[in-house]
Amino acid sequence: MISRRKFIAQSLATVAAGSALTHLSSCDEKKIITGSTNGPNAALGHRLRNLTDQHPRKQIKKDVVIVGGGIAGLSAARILKKNNTDFTLLELEHHVGGNSSFRSNALSAYPLGAHYLPLPNLDNHSLLEFLEEVGVITHYEKGLPQFYEHYLCFDPKERLYINEHWQEGLIPQDGVPSSDQQQIVRFLEQMERWRNKLGRDQKYAFNIPVAESSSDPEILALDQISMDAWLHANLFTSTYLNWYVNYCCLDDFGISTQHTSAWAGLHYFASRKG
Ligand SMILES: Cc1cc2nc3c(=O)[nH]c(=O)nc-3n(C[C@H](O)[C@H](O)[C@H](O)COP(=O)(O)OP(=O)(O)OC[C@H]3O[C@@H](n4cnc5c(N)ncnc54)[C@H](O)[C@@H]3O)c2cc1C
Repeated sequence: MISRRKFIAQSLATVAAGSALTHLSSCDEKKIITGSTNGPNAALGHRLRNLTDQHPRKQIKKDVVIVGGGIAGLSAARILKKNNTDFTLLELEHHVGGNSSFRSNALSAYPLGAHYLPLPNLDNHSLLEFLEEVGVITHYEKGLPQFYEHYLCFDPKERLYINEHWQEGLIPQDGVPSSDQQQIVRFLEQMERWRNKLGRDQKYAFNIPVAESSSDPEILALDQISMDAWLHANLFTSTYLNWYVNYCCLDDFGISTQHTSAWAGLHYFASRKG
């Protein structure tokens, strides 16, 4: 058995050395994994810096220039195109998509980074419209979007190793004392209330896209304290609950509850309306 941390460290070292990874597995069987690490094209990125003659050879005039063809740049380009705006999009790489790019092999297409989109909130009109445009939403029934199943995937079923047992789901349950369980239930109930809470401007406290969230100063003030401080201020002291919320912050933001603002932490739990 090899730990995940050790596996990743060894994979990176092996790939960096240009050879195939010849061990790994939760069982003893030997597997060979080939591949390379992915990153920005440094050679292309440095080309301008290394040019001896940096005078432009050609000048192009455009009303708008988008730098970078990741999903943000592509979204901007889509809107500008719809509005017949004169624009150009500059991309460093030989392909667009940025962190949401993909490749394909003989078996299938596969993502290089971002690839999931949670089911859209019903007031996220621009996203719903886009999904309709690309055929992911086929039609509406009783006001609810119907999705082309080809593009849907199940929620990942995660398991947690806790108190020397595997349990279903990430929220600690097995062997968790009842006082901790009560806190977990209270926390989830609070998140449900936050999910439906409106600010004084009648906007959801937390929404997707972030810009659609309420600007109520009382809610925005949550950005001034950490998620960790918020948990303690609300008497959420359970180590199990704190582990779970910390895991979620690490998963989504790459940082702990101590470094995630309470606003961002609550947004994680309350912005998806389901
Ligand atoms: C492993 C991983 C998994 C993720 N999974 C998900 C997910 O499932 N769902 C989700 O919603 N989000 C996910 N995310 C987050 C998501 O990937 C990003 O939020 C999103 O792709 C960022 O898009 P962007 O356009 O802002 O930036 P980027 O995708 O980084 O795009 C920037 C673009 O600019 C180009 N560029 C850079 N410098 C220059 C230059 N000088 N000139 C021209 N072009 C330049 C780059 O080549 C790139 O194409 C994930 C992130 C990671 C790292």
